[in-house]
Amino acid sequence: MSKRLPEYRAKRDFAKTREPRDTARIGKSDHTRFVVQKHDASRLHYDLRLEVDGVFKSWAVTKGPSVDPADKRLAVEVEDHPLGYGDFEGTIPKGEYGGGTVMIWDRGFWEPEADEDPSVSLANGELKFVLAGSKLKGSWVLVRMKHDRGAGTRTNWLLIKHRDSFAASGEGDGLRDQDKSVASGRTMATIAAGKGPSPKPFMTEPNAKPRPDAVWSSKQVAVADRQALRRGPPQSKFAAVAAAADRVLGVPISNSAKSLWPSNGKAAVTKLELAEYLATVGPWMIAHVRGRPCSLIRAPDGIEGATFFQRHAMKGQSPLVRAVKVSGDREPYLQIDDVPGLVAMAQIAAVEFHPWNCAPFATAVPGRLVFDLDPAPEVAFSAVVDAAREMRERVESLGLAAFCKTTGGKGLHVVVPLTGEDEKLGWPEAKLFSETLSSQMADANPERYLVNMSKKNRKGRIFIDYLRNDRTATAVAPLSPRARAGAPVSMPLTWSQVRRDLDPKRYTVRTASALMSKAQPWQDYATSGRSLRMAIEKLVGA
Ligand code: ATP
Ligand code: MN
Repeated sequence: MSKRLPEYRAKRDFAKTREPRDTARIGKSDHTRFVVQKHDASRLHYDLRLEVDGVFKSWAVTKGPSVDPADKRLAVEVEDHPLGYGDFEGTIPKGEYGGGTVMIWDRGFWEPEADEDPSVSLANGELKFVLAGSKLKGSWVLVRMKHDRGAGTRTNWLLIKHRDSFAASGEGDGLRDQDKSVASGRTMATIAAGKGPSPKPFMTEPNAKPRPDAVWSSKQVAVADRQALRRGPPQSKFAAVAAAADRVLGVPISNSAKSLWPSNGKAAVTKLELAEYLATVGPWMIAHVRGRPCSLIRAPDGIEGATFFQRHAMKGQSPLVRAVKVSGDREPYLQIDDVPGLVAMAQIAAVEFHPWNCAPFATAVPGRLVFDLDPAPEVAFSAVVDAAREMRERVESLGLAAFCKTTGGKGLHVVVPLTGEDEKLGWPEAKLFSETLSSQMADANPERYLVNMSKKNRKGRIFIDYLRNDRTATAVAPLSPRARAGAPVSMPLTWSQVRRDLDPKRYTVRTASALMSKAQPWQDYATSGRSLRMAIEKLVGA
């Protein structure tokens, strides 16, 4: 018997109550479990218990959980409970601590949303998590109330539903009033009477037959439920459970049903779909990302919520990606070197990937040039297509190769691979070369193009942004999704696709993979790197 849970044991007289001591053999589980027990004690409440480090962290939610994000519920922290308590359904004798009837109201699996150890999140007073239960599903947060920290004997928290597809306003479908045990199907009255079917165990190992009248009963493992879980989603009532811990390329995707791109006529693009998209296009995409610091745009609440641009590595990040030091910066940058790394970024709701343009694993060496064609709002897209084609001619005339991609936004990018072997040429030379080339194009047609940054001068014209061509500058990666309506992606194109009727909106998280297979764009990108030195010599000589 463990020395843990002293408070739990001190409060109970096990000669009188048949609540479990901390002795039950707990079944192994791939996922951390939770249970909500409806407890008709001196005051009716709902006990939320989350499995953390081998015990149940517990809160008494006075009014019960609400699926309405506007309806914050007081959750009073109570003592840790043994995991075996999660199978307890029955009656605690009157006069004993917590005397009254206990129903296993909901149970299932849970996961923290962050990569952080949940005990650290709890110590810090905020735990965002996903529940995959029979009644409670989706994303929630527990926040410790500031004024209650250490004050008095109670620590008060708020339990709040996040906005997701499982949220509802008001009382939802009367969820809280569903007077039915998930373990036995019994009502509170039937449990109090010690009648009806036995509760089906979920936490404990099989070694005893459960009794319907037991105050503490039930040691039969929920074999059927576990098998159902292993079979995977659609097939069982545990579909939601499986969905909360989906895996893509072995990478666990929690809260996989979370909508990142809200529906616009079609179904919303979820976190799981983003992960699957990155796994599918990753083999094409990764060549343009690996070995380079990569910024992310993250949208933890979907693209309509707050988004943020992340350049640097962070504490507790996925071991599938790297933190790399770059000279001149104390803080390490985030770097993604393989496809599972891309998928791991879907788990943290990274919706855009913006790598540097250096040669792989050599930040000082220019690996490609990007000419970013940015049209003023009133410019027809066909004019951007013309600009890309003209840029291609100019680039090729200098002995370099040019590739075109949509940005997933309003313009086009012309990408020029370099050998990365001109060791003595660095970013200052690459930037000057790009500026000179861009200026030549703008000078030839000043009514159409400009290289000056100033937005107000852009009117009716296309801004040729050569400033992507600097050491720490980024451009969106080929095949990266964009945090814009419709889940568009930055799509590599063949030059024959770069026609005046090109519609960049066609290329989305849903369509890009099939269209890549069909058109096979950028096939010879990897072998098309040319010498920047030669191009500079041609440009200067010309
Ligand atoms: P569009 O065609 O709509 O212009 P784009 O990707 O070219 O799409 P821009 O706003 O022109 O978008 O930005 C060009 C590049 O600048 C981006 O691809 C991105 O890598 C980079 N960038 C630099 N700073 C930021 C930032 N704070 N947020 C997003 N992108 C940034
Ligand atoms: Mn642009």
